[in-house]
Amino acid sequence: MWIDSHCHLNHERAQGLGSVDNIVENAKDNSVDGMLTVCCNIEQEKDELRAIAARHENVWYSIGTHPHDAAEIYDSEMSQEELVNLVQTDEKIVAIGETGLDYFYDNAPREKQKASFRKHIRASIETGLPLIIHTRDAEQDTVDILKEEGANGKINAVLHCFTGTQWLADKALDMGLYISFSGIVTFKNSKDLQETAKTIPLDRFLVETDAPFLAPVPHRGKTNTPAFVGHTGTFVAELKGITPQLCAQTSKDNFFNLFTKAKETWQPLAIKTQGKGAHEQS
Ligand SMILES: [Zn+2]
Ligand SMILES: [Zn+2]
Repeated sequence: MWIDSHCHLNHERAQGLGSVDNIVENAKDNSVDGMLTVCCNIEQEKDELRAIAARHENVWYSIGTHPHDAAEIYDSEMSQEELVNLVQTDEKIVAIGETGLDYFYDNAPREKQKASFRKHIRASIETGLPLIIHTRDAEQDTVDILKEEGANGKINAVLHCFTGTQWLADKALDMGLYISFSGIVTFKNSKDLQETAKTIPLDRFLVETDAPFLAPVPHRGKTNTPAFVGHTGTFVAELKGITPQLCAQTSKDNFFNLFTKAKETWQPLAIKTQGKGAHEQS
């Protein structure tokens, strides 16, 4: 069984797959027994994410502002203390993020992105909740800010949907961070990333879908869904020369070592004794 360490269950692009409840059930029918649905815009998403996580076992969520949304007025006005208080209001909030820097799109001014990133890092250190970091075309600033904020040995974080260089991977490992692979690693043109993936120690990687984006091969181009995380995991297993079963177990252990709060509400899924049709009629 796999855990999808990063998805966006409530994203409008996922609507073609049916309701959020359908997406979660479909994942559970496809050997995915846990998922972390990640917040990008606190103002718009926090109530919805809370409701989704409350309805489903082993669905956890995060709270944070994506760098794309770092110029939103609510984020500029939200103090570190308010963020700290908010993330402690629900047992199923297991992380802070996604936050970080995205200089590829530059949807928000870089100064706003940096200020928001620093606030999230400080809230993470204050609460002990791990950080989910999004970084694109911003490697040096990401490393510099993490170092300036005292991240060395003091912060738990994952670089999600890793597409960076070997340099960034090495810096992240030096700082004790985890690295998460999405469907991008399965793409034919991702040779450098595949080489980097081989160098990440077994106790430091996660797998994710980032659904509804970035579906892995053989579903590339389709709407992504947590049920597909095993394709990425199996591909990573091959790169690392281990079995898919070991890859699933290792990445799950790593998930709970990072997102320790998720362990508190973890439930082994009951094995279904009825067929799907019978289940739907009841
Ligand atoms: Zn992201
Ligand atoms: Zn994301």
